[in-house]
Amino acid sequence: MKPKINIAIDGYSSCGKSTLAKSIAKELNYVYIDSGAMYRAMTLYALQHGYIGPDGVINTEGLIHALDLVMINFKYNTDVQQYETFLNGQNVEREIRSLQVSNHVSPISNIKEVRQKLVRLQKRMAETKGVVMDGRDIGTVVLPDADLKIFMTADNRIRAQRRYDELRSMGVESSFEEVLKNLNSRDEYDSSRSNDPLRRAEDAVVIDNTNLTIEEQFQFILANVLKKLGATENVV
Ligand code: C5P
Repeated sequence: MKPKINIAIDGYSSCGKSTLAKSIAKELNYVYIDSGAMYRAMTLYALQHGYIGPDGVINTEGLIHALDLVMINFKYNTDVQQYETFLNGQNVEREIRSLQVSNHVSPISNIKEVRQKLVRLQKRMAETKGVVMDGRDIGTVVLPDADLKIFMTADNRIRAQRRYDELRSMGVESSFEEVLKNLNSRDEYDSSRSNDPLRRAEDAVVIDNTNLTIEEQFQFILANVLKKLGATENVV
């Protein structure tokens, strides 16, 4: 049996990380893990249970005390051939993509105890290898030993347009300006926050996909994976 590797994909918001991670996972028959969905599910829980007030102020202490009551997991939906996010047994895949969740997810992700809980879960999911995980701190904190690390970036207006198109195709109401504003503020917050900020791992391969097609990015990553797999096979 071929040895399996772990692949970490980090980068700015709406860079197409998940599209790429999903197609690479499919090609290799690996498991795709959307770590952002876990932070989004935590944010949805905080909204549903009043830990985020109408003024946007977070009851951090209250949420930390409730953390043991929050169960987040993924289940594979054969109809859409994708993993979907479950929060305490409820499928929340669609709800976690709303702008309301996007607008609050960054400060929730900066709570140290929230990160500790989710990072522990993410590390456990990757123990058996054969995982493609995307997020902000995968190559630096969650899987510092990942065999292949990718860091993605692209022009912010192009990213906002892609995200706007994606939301529209999902039937989620928004405007381009709203999406752009949310993307810029999340990038700023995620890069400068105190806990596990977004940064490129020193050993990550950088992809600026402003002018690259999905197929070009896919082939580039696949070539890097095959190189790594070749190297792994030689070692085993
Ligand atoms: O990847 P996505 O855009 O869905 O992530 C939503 C938010 O979750 C990010 O803006 C960031 O605040 C947070 N996040 C994080 N660490 C990760 C993944 C996501 O802090 N590994």
